[in-house]
Amino acid sequence: MTLTGKLLIGQHAITGHREAIRGIDPATDAALEPAYFGGDAGQVGQTCALAEAAFDPYRETSVEQRAGFLDTIAQEIEALGDALIDRAMAETGLPRPRLLGERGRTCHQLRLFARTVRAGEWLDVRIDPAQPQRQPLPRADLRQRQVPVGPVAVFGASNFPLAFSVAGGDTASALAAGCPVVVKAHGAHPGTSELVGRAVARAVKACGLPEGVFSLLYGSGREVGIALVSDPRIKAVGFTGSRSGGLALCQAAQARPEPIPVYAEMSSINPVLLFPVALRNRGEALARGFVASLTLGAGQFCTNPGLVIAFKGPALDAFVADAAEHLQHSAAQTMLTPGIFSAFESSVNALAENALARIAAVGQRATGPNQCQAHLFVTDAVDFLADRRLQAEAFGAASLVVQCEDFDEIRQVTEHLEGQLTATLHLDDGDLEQARALLPTLERKAGRLLVNGWPTGVEVCDAMVHGGPFPATSDPRSTSVGTAAIQRFLRPVCYQDFPDALLPQALRQANPLGLRRLIDGQREA
Ligand code: NAP
Repeated sequence: MTLTGKLLIGQHAITGHREAIRGIDPATDAALEPAYFGGDAGQVGQTCALAEAAFDPYRETSVEQRAGFLDTIAQEIEALGDALIDRAMAETGLPRPRLLGERGRTCHQLRLFARTVRAGEWLDVRIDPAQPQRQPLPRADLRQRQVPVGPVAVFGASNFPLAFSVAGGDTASALAAGCPVVVKAHGAHPGTSELVGRAVARAVKACGLPEGVFSLLYGSGREVGIALVSDPRIKAVGFTGSRSGGLALCQAAQARPEPIPVYAEMSSINPVLLFPVALRNRGEALARGFVASLTLGAGQFCTNPGLVIAFKGPALDAFVADAAEHLQHSAAQTMLTPGIFSAFESSVNALAENALARIAAVGQRATGPNQCQAHLFVTDAVDFLADRRLQAEAFGAASLVVQCEDFDEIRQVTEHLEGQLTATLHLDDGDLEQARALLPTLERKAGRLLVNGWPTGVEVCDAMVHGGPFPATSDPRSTSVGTAAIQRFLRPVCYQDFPDALLPQALRQANPLGLRRLIDGQREA
């Protein structure tokens, strides 16, 4: 399949007017063809106009049409075959099995949203029938449903070139909600983005939808990205990436005459608490599991375990020694981009130069560009509490063990943490009381709490929360993974005293969509 290097504005492939970027093979630093020219302000405006024009017809599609569209996108992505995997490998340095798994996850995610659309629970229909005889005042007939917010701008993430990118979770949930999507491609995988973008555009055409339902733009975040977020026709934003990038988009969205929500997933160090009985009983197994989770994918996961908290003493010393032993033998891995590699190097160098932390182990070195060498550091609770820099995210395979003198220090360290995507508890029966005492704090800090597992690996399902208080995300009420992600792109509308014939189908008395409605406070069976 020949790559064109063009923007996809609806069904039209158009060459951008601004400077070009190329994909880089991070294993060799070689630039890849073709060049992708960035869009200019006029092209961003043209795209947003198409998205706006598509909004009303698209949101009026039936649940079956919309679900069929999501299923068709999944089929079109699968039909790309090896061409997609080969290009993604060249652009990201990620191994084939990982990318095959990620393609499976991406298509599963699209089909899960298709199922969600068909089930109709997202419409959240609430009906409070009229009470004309009520005293002292009669009650009107009130009916509520959810409607899509409008065109959504999606920023593809570098670390999941398929599952969090052009047709990833943000796009799938926005399309499921009934919102047209404009993607700002991540510069780290432009060719992968084009292949997937063209697959989505083919699905738009095959399903007979208005072309503005999906567009794909290239260009710099500061130019195309900010222009997109500032365009009055865009009504919400989905983003995964750095804290500074996410905050810049939040500021641009708030500076608009009409501010809009930005759902940015940014920075998390995912604390792991090792409770004393578990640490004594199975410290060696914990050390092995920890290093496997830490080094998975060169640590380039937002749920990477970047902080370990435990009681100081022989059991923790043994855990650190075992983890150091495993980590020293861990092979270096190619990072996604030269930029991410250099950010990782700066982060580990800053920790190495910080007198309050000591290096416990460093992974294998390798020749070649952009090679991530895993790092493990150790510090004491008092020092961790004294220096905020010790809880900065080092995106890559680096983690810090915080040694606590007593339970009060564990509580202080936990309380001191910023918002997190996850918090993990390793515990045995004898640890339950201490774990229970920390739960209120952990619930305030994190979006997902796990027991006796590792935070990497985020299931795409109904119950998942991939979110959390700032800086994990910009809106702690939301999740970017799982079917609840659709709620970010919906808003409620109430219809008062509407004649049945004028009501949307979801709210009609005869319930033609077969929904489980909340009627006068009672959920229908
Ligand atoms: P990034 O720099 O935040 O870039 C993500 C997207 O946002 C890109 O499309 C980028 O466009 C755009 N962007 C960045 N800064 C912007 C700004 N000031 N204004 C407007 N748009 C902006 O993230 P990245 O390239 O994926 O990785 C860089 C760092 O982000 C990593 O080293 C890591 O620290 C962090 N990261 C965190 C996670 C996580 O899940 N927590 C995931 C990935 C990365 P341009 O590149 O075109 O400017």
